[in-house]
Amino acid sequence: MVKSFNDNYNRNQTAFSLRMRASMDGMHISGAERILSEDKLPSELVSLFNRAINHGIGTPDEIYFSVEEIKEDILFAGSLPISTILTEGSEDSRRKTKELLKLHNISEKTISKAFNDISKGASPDSKNMRGAIVIDIDTGERLEPDPYRGVRVSRMDICEEAEDTLSIEMKRIDTEGLRVKEALILATKVSMAGTVAELCWSDNPDYTTGYVASKRYGYVRFPDLKKKGDIKGGRAFFFKGQVSDIYSYINFLQKRPVLIERVTQGFRPCTWEEFLSRTRRDEI
Ligand code: AMP
Repeated sequence: MVKSFNDNYNRNQTAFSLRMRASMDGMHISGAERILSEDKLPSELVSLFNRAINHGIGTPDEIYFSVEEIKEDILFAGSLPISTILTEGSEDSRRKTKELLKLHNISEKTISKAFNDISKGASPDSKNMRGAIVIDIDTGERLEPDPYRGVRVSRMDICEEAEDTLSIEMKRIDTEGLRVKEALILATKVSMAGTVAELCWSDNPDYTTGYVASKRYGYVRFPDLKKKGDIKGGRAFFFKGQVSDIYSYINFLQKRPVLIERVTQGFRPCTWEEFLSRTRRDEI
């Protein structure tokens, strides 16, 4: 992770994209993305290796790392605000998640398609995908060029100072975990691409909290979105636009380097009703 790009010296520093993905019997089980300076590469490689071999699904039989120098300009961003909705079990969570997606003018049919595809394993051979589904909110069609792989968002991270601020902020709002941080970084980049909303739950059988994220409502977590022990998970990006725009959309997600440099204040866990009244007051 880069310490800072806030002064001239650091902005001129070379940044690298480090990526890890691990699989078992051809099934994706874990992945990570970093943007960091050269001196941080060795220690981060070791830490991502340890993470790959200690994944809840099992021990991978293939782990890939890639390191690329970043030549494009980095886009600096503020994170989405975090909210957590208190729910009564997975059915309630699913109902409310769907309600939130409907508030983005996504049809029930398209929402159900995303839920069904992720629940059964979204790739055509019913495995978890390495990347995300892209789904057209007007037609309900899936648009990702490779339906086995999906679209994998890459080249995003958070500056070190902002990460420290995020840790403090997460403590303040009773939210914890590396997963939340990483998903927030990804969701912020996905929202910057113009995505109407993102739906996600993990394929890790021990991690059951999912989320919906968008520019309008922020990063909204739903506990128990899936049942403990379920190894199916994935992401859906709800897209609105011309199909001809899809390549520049995907190119942004895969290639444009984005670094979070500011942390937006979030909210303590609250009921769905409290969340709605807050958003109606336009505070998110
Ligand atoms: P995770 O939250 O890491 O358990 O990932 C859950 C699912 O999200 C994975 O099974 C993938 O389908 C998808 N996913 C993970 N990382 C990415 C990424 N960088 N870009 C797009 N989709 C991803």
